[in-house]
Amino acid sequence: MFKDLKYLFGLSKFLFNYYVRDTAFVKSYDLTYRCNLSCKHCYFYKNYSKSTDDSLTDNQWKEFFIREKMNGVRELHLTGGEPMLRMRVIEFANEIFGERHVNIYTNGTIPLPPLWRNSFFVSIDGDVETQKKVRGLIIWNKYLQILGMTKGL
Ligand code: SF4
Repeated sequence: MFKDLKYLFGLSKFLFNYYVRDTAFVKSYDLTYRCNLSCKHCYFYKNYSKSTDDSLTDNQWKEFFIREKMNGVRELHLTGGEPMLRMRVIEFANEIFGERHVNIYTNGTIPLPPLWRNSFFVSIDGDVETQKKVRGLIIWNKYLQILGMTKGL
C-alpha cells in the first residue's frame, strides 16, 4: 500500500514537472569546450577559445544544479569537450543528484576516480586502425589499459 502511494506520488510529481512546469526529467549538460585530445571530427575543440569556455565557475554550476533539481530534473548526462576536466563540477552533481543519476561521457584518458559509482560512457570509433587515425595510438593503448587487456602485449 505504502509502496503504491509512493509510486503514485512520484509519478504525479514527474507528470506535473513535465507537463505543467515544462521541465525535462533527464537533461544533458556540456560542462566545457576544453579537451585534452583533438580528434579529427570534433567541433568542440575547434570552437574552443578562452572567451567561450567555462563560462560558469564551479560554484555557479553547483547553484545551477540545485535549481535544476528543485525544478524536477533527476538524471544528468554530462559531456564536453572532456567533462573530466571539470572534476569539481561532477563532484557537485554527484552530491546533489547522487552518483547513480549522473552519467559521464568521457574520452577515457583521465583516470576514473575509483570510488565513484557513476555510469561512464567511453568513446570508441571503430577497430584499432580507425581509432588510431581518429584519436591516435596512445589513446588506443589507454583503452586497452582501461579494459584490462594489456597483459601479454
Ligand atoms: S575526445 Fe571528444 S571532445 Fe575531445 S576532441 Fe575528441 S571528440 Fe572532441
